[in-house]
Amino acid sequence: MQNLSARTAGFTDSVIRRMTRISLQYNAINLSQGFPDFDPPAAISTRLAEIAGSGPHQYAITWGAQNFREALAQKQRTFTGLPIDPDKEIVVTCGSTEAMMVAMLTVSNPGDKVIVFSPFYENYSADAILAGAEPIYVPLNPPEFRFDPDVLEAAFKQHPKALILCNPSNPCGRVFSRAELDIIAVYAKKYDTYIITDEVYEHIVYTPHTHTYFATLPGMFERTISCSSLSKSYSITGWRLGYIIAPERIVETAKKVHDFLTVGAAAPLQEAAIIGLHFPSSYYYDLANVYTEKRNLFIKGLSDAGIPHIIPEGAYYVLADISEYHYESDVQFCEDLARNIGVAAVPGSSFFKTPVNHLIRFHFAKKNETLIEALNRLDLMKKLKHF
Ligand code: GLN
Repeated sequence: MQNLSARTAGFTDSVIRRMTRISLQYNAINLSQGFPDFDPPAAISTRLAEIAGSGPHQYAITWGAQNFREALAQKQRTFTGLPIDPDKEIVVTCGSTEAMMVAMLTVSNPGDKVIVFSPFYENYSADAILAGAEPIYVPLNPPEFRFDPDVLEAAFKQHPKALILCNPSNPCGRVFSRAELDIIAVYAKKYDTYIITDEVYEHIVYTPHTHTYFATLPGMFERTISCSSLSKSYSITGWRLGYIIAPERIVETAKKVHDFLTVGAAAPLQEAAIIGLHFPSSYYYDLANVYTEKRNLFIKGLSDAGIPHIIPEGAYYVLADISEYHYESDVQFCEDLARNIGVAAVPGSSFFKTPVNHLIRFHFAKKNETLIEALNRLDLMKKLKHF
């Protein structure tokens, strides 16, 4: 038989999603794949129950139901100050995962280069490979996870078609400052490069840090494809509701790519989520407070147990240092951790371009009682030294 496609030959499955399966196998507390174990806001689930009776149950307009796009445009206008046109500047997608893939296919040709910061969320390299693009990795240097502007400019000098910007950042928890974003903007203009953002953690930011939407920087809206989703903001990761916001010139093409990839996001779920898009600003303030409490609880627990870690500025992940266990493979460490301690984490190596085996990623989007039980188990790990 003929070989399968060459573009998939270098692929592994997603390490993040594999860790969820390993977690289930060992009945561990799953702090690997980032999703909540608590319910979405009651107003949203109640609305979903109503829609089970009333519908819609058939396709929405391929680039998103009209009322969903209008509600989304209104909400994002409030947070960004941009005059977003719901008809011309939005594509609703199956999660931000599809949004990012559509963005990549919309701007890049096979052989084009795309800048990706490392560490990075593993989908970005897969998206580049699927689109036939070649990633140029620019390091975010630990422990602060900042980029060197000269190294970044050297990457721009290779004339990339796009840069992928995850902000707030998964897995390192950076919230890029205005000054850092300004540097990216200067290069984007100078080297005529598109910016594809992943801003799914836009509402999960810890004081004193604040999120700046890249598209709001002077002159940047025209070259920015802003991708985000409702998954994290409303605790509905399984609903797969994401979107692209971009200028009409880009959205016209993105609509076609999306249409032929998936036709559309689930119509009843779009309808049910509209109520969330109308929530007052206090909802987002409360969400940030809930996650601030979880972050503080979790990092205090890690500190009390003596587990070295990075303090995130945004998103809901913590990178912890496991150097003292002298594992050659962080993948093996995470499997042993799930089996013997009952906590699942993601091996750090899956996020870095350079070889790294001393970091693992926990997420803390869990009920406080779940986090406390996980911390008890990690404390035991620390006391056992070997496990
Ligand atoms: N963003 C989540 C994570 O990094 C997972 C998203 C997904 O699996 N689609 O864990």
